[in-house]
Amino acid sequence: MSYEIYRVTARCKCPCGKGEIIYGKSMNDWNQTRDGDIEIDCSECSKKFKFTEGGLIDINYPDYYGDPDIKKQMRIIQDRIWNYKYRMTQDEKDERLKAYLTTEEYAALIADPETKLVSDFISEMFNAEYFIEKYSLQELIKAQKEIKIKRYSTELTEKSLEIAIDHKRVCNSIKLSNILKTVNRAIRNYDAYQRFCDKEKEIKAQLKIQYEELKKEYYKNYETYSIEKRKHIIPYALIPVNRSKQRE
Ligand SMILES: [Zn+2]
Repeated sequence: MSYEIYRVTARCKCPCGKGEIIYGKSMNDWNQTRDGDIEIDCSECSKKFKFTEGGLIDINYPDYYGDPDIKKQMRIIQDRIWNYKYRMTQDEKDERLKAYLTTEEYAALIADPETKLVSDFISEMFNAEYFIEKYSLQELIKAQKEIKIKRYSTELTEKSLEIAIDHKRVCNSIKLSNILKTVNRAIRNYDAYQRFCDKEKEIKAQLKIQYEELKKEYYKNYETYSIEKRKHIIPYALIPVNRSKQRE
């Protein structure tokens, strides 16, 4: 979906002098508008140049490249930071499982890692984490008490009802017995989860330090690249358009 400038608020000559560089408000095919777009309105120059900081540059002028291996390492670290829960090592996963499951549950899981039981445990754990993050321990305990004495989820009150509605959305079930299962797990895992969150923050902080070090290494030649690049930049100076003279 491309935007096209429909109101020019500043302009100047292009490098060849036959066209212009225009700046202003633009619109796409769905009549969505945005401000601050810039275009080369010249059939020759638009084929030859691209915008860069400080002006125009040859369209084929290369971007900065550092060591590709470092870039790869940076991507892996970034991915671990963003998708931490999905990139846990086997040891980290085991640690969580051990803390979250009872000794019997954990033993059952180790005995037969392919059973449906395992995927049930895992989804139960992750579902519980959602409720731990969103609700206080007191709210969960109150819901646990209410659920045990009510027959239908519609009889629940306040936060307990909210938990039930959330459960329908997140776990696809509003059956009291299922909600109770998740709530029980959330209560039992509450402290362990907080500990894992603290640890996760620490690990992420370490990863960020590593990332910054790699970034520094990756961009170590940037200054040299930048000095050379600046020699090839063609500057331009936009001149604001006098609105009273402009035809809409
Ligand atoms: Zn031109």
